[in-house]
Amino acid sequence: MQQPSGASLVTPPGPLGGAEAAAGIAAPPLTDRLLRSWLRCRRRAWLDRHGPEGARRWSAHRALALQDQLRSFQSLLPQRPGHGEQACQSGAPGVVGLRLRGTGPGGLVLEAHPPLLERVETPSRWGRHGYRPVLVRQGRHLTREHRLVLALWGRLLAEHQGAAVPQALVLAGAGDQLQREQLNLGSGLHQQLEEVLPRLAAELEPGREAPPLVNDRKKCTLCSWRGLCDGEAAAEGHLSEVSGIGGKRRDLLISLGITSLGELATADPEGLADSLEDHGEQHRDVAAQLVAQARVQAAGECRRLATGPALPELTQAPGVLVYDIEADSDARDDFLHGFLKLERGAAGWPSLAAAAGAPYHPLLALHEHGEERLWRRLRTLLERYPDWPVLHYGETEAVGLLRLAERQGVSEAERTRLRRRLIDVHQRLKRHWLLPVNSYGLKAVASWLGFRWSQGGADGARCLLWWRQWRQDRNRPNVPPRLAGRPLERIFRYNRDDGMATWAVASWMLDQEGLPANQAAGEDRLP
Ligand code: SF4
Repeated sequence: MQQPSGASLVTPPGPLGGAEAAAGIAAPPLTDRLLRSWLRCRRRAWLDRHGPEGARRWSAHRALALQDQLRSFQSLLPQRPGHGEQACQSGAPGVVGLRLRGTGPGGLVLEAHPPLLERVETPSRWGRHGYRPVLVRQGRHLTREHRLVLALWGRLLAEHQGAAVPQALVLAGAGDQLQREQLNLGSGLHQQLEEVLPRLAAELEPGREAPPLVNDRKKCTLCSWRGLCDGEAAAEGHLSEVSGIGGKRRDLLISLGITSLGELATADPEGLADSLEDHGEQHRDVAAQLVAQARVQAAGECRRLATGPALPELTQAPGVLVYDIEADSDARDDFLHGFLKLERGAAGWPSLAAAAGAPYHPLLALHEHGEERLWRRLRTLLERYPDWPVLHYGETEAVGLLRLAERQGVSEAERTRLRRRLIDVHQRLKRHWLLPVNSYGLKAVASWLGFRWSQGGADGARCLLWWRQWRQDRNRPNVPPRLAGRPLERIFRYNRDDGMATWAVASWMLDQEGLPANQAAGEDRLP
């Protein structure tokens, strides 16, 4: 479906437009949520206020963040927090559900819902105690977003409790790993807030156009408006659509007069290399790569780069293991090692349809069983097929497996043999092909080839949510085993699909080389 262009995303003069404002109807308050969105991406706050609600997508990342927040709060305060004003009056050690309202610069109406307030021994209108806001930090460092949101909470809480809030508490992690950091809510921070709030309010006024797409589109990965913005970026040929262009390169190209994918596709690579060199780009070949990538995307056709087979290891191999890990990367926990076993038949490699019936071996990494047992199972499986290459997409699997082997004291010689068996399909693809895709990630490439995951909307974050749910439910006596096991079934299905998607890419590469990739001419035929 064609998405609306930037110019079309304009709010109509709504019920709170000029005449109504003049008639004294209050504008909706500026909330902490809007401030947070705006600090991540100006467009996001605009969409939160004015965007088509149906285009907003549920985000597994947000659900994971809320779970992490709850775990941090439970580690800080083992007892249940109190709720609202009454809990503040009675001096509960922790309070949730307090809505704060106040007035900002120029009479702006402000509203916030801090997720937790912690009691401090500072007098307030509630007696000899007061409160301070608590925030759970995502990521390794405290950012401007965290600081300004805390400043807003502190400002409104001070107004509400009739006493200053000089400090806030920042948490990260949980249990024994809980980290606490005090943040001073000094005048510098409040000054920044004073400057930011009127700018946010102005951008959200009815009738204002949506701000442009964020420059660094990596930020979009976690955003619930991603579908809408992806469609718009594709429709307008946004430079970020060109694989290999991040925020900085886009700025640089725009400063050189190249503002879209179409313009980059028609640029002279040599001239562009000279210009980029003048701006500090050290590798001249980057210009040729970017122009070539833009050209295949503009034309919608792939282009072969290197000659020779991309996967020579498969020429003689009797079979392959397709390997995919599911991980909680923040916790550095590779919780599932999945293998698809594909045997070469007399007619060649199995087609995608034939691979659908191939054996799948999921190996769960449970902490209570220890790494030694996991390694033993992995080694047994790998040794059962000693001549079979192990295909994977991206470096996660190779890094995870080799590090595990090292931790288990496996000899250098055995790790070298293992390293030689591991074939990164993503790396080979990039070395041999340019594809008309905006990313060389597995999802984008396999989807371009026509592969479809069997569970709509599933991704790594969703898988992690299922994993947490399974671990929580599996020992609960009130959850029937059939229901408790469902999240694990979903994880296996997703992991198996990832393996099939990897095979779809490898199989396509083989097919392009005229090797006997036994592709059926039917529905699973790759372009
Ligand atoms: S998807 Fe990206 S550009 Fe769109 S609102 Fe979200 S962060 Fe901003």
